[in-house]
Amino acid sequence: MCISQQAREPVQGDYVSYEQAVEFHGHSCGGLASGYRVAIAAMKALGVGRPKDEELVAIAETDACGVDAIQMITGCTAGKGNLIIHDYGKHAFTFYCRQSNKAVRVVTNLDGLMPAEMDELRPKVFSGQASKAEIARYQELAHLGVDAILAAPEEKVIKLNFVDMQPPKKARIFKSVSCENCGEMVADAKTREHEGKRVCMTCYLSATSS
Ligand SMILES: [Zn+2]
Ligand SMILES: [Zn+2]
Repeated sequence: MCISQQAREPVQGDYVSYEQAVEFHGHSCGGLASGYRVAIAAMKALGVGRPKDEELVAIAETDACGVDAIQMITGCTAGKGNLIIHDYGKHAFTFYCRQSNKAVRVVTNLDGLMPAEMDELRPKVFSGQASKAEIARYQELAHLGVDAILAAPEEKVIKLNFVDMQPPKKARIFKSVSCENCGEMVADAKTREHEGKRVCMTCYLSATSS
């Protein structure tokens, strides 16, 4: 439920823990940690809990690690249609609450939080040229960076502004039909016409690419 600020001030325990986000994402990293801070800051500012439906909408300007924290913490997910991804390569997120008609845009400032030594090691680690000791050191530094991001005061890591925004379109519900070629069910609006038949995109692409 999307609950207005006046009605209820969410308490810390209302939020999914960072550990749960790590479990969902598969590893702990700076991107996930900063996404975690973004999600909590936005929910606090909008006075919302984790929505079960699509009352809260998130618009991400990146498709990187942080998006998984947003999905896990805010409940805005790709499958529900209340997570919109524009991959602009920016760690910036906008959240819109349908109930209060309020929106916030959130960016992070990680200056000085991720150890500078990581920048020196990164090319070696990711090109497979690092020694075991260097990899271990890199991981140790990454953990320190994550701890610093999670512990930093909100005003240091988070820049949050209320913005005016039109309500995003609700997820559309399509009628399902069966593809006249493969017989699998497909959303009507996503079908294509091919040689007089209504076919799914998968069939259409394989028929037209050969
Ligand atoms: Zn990650
Ligand atoms: Zn088909």
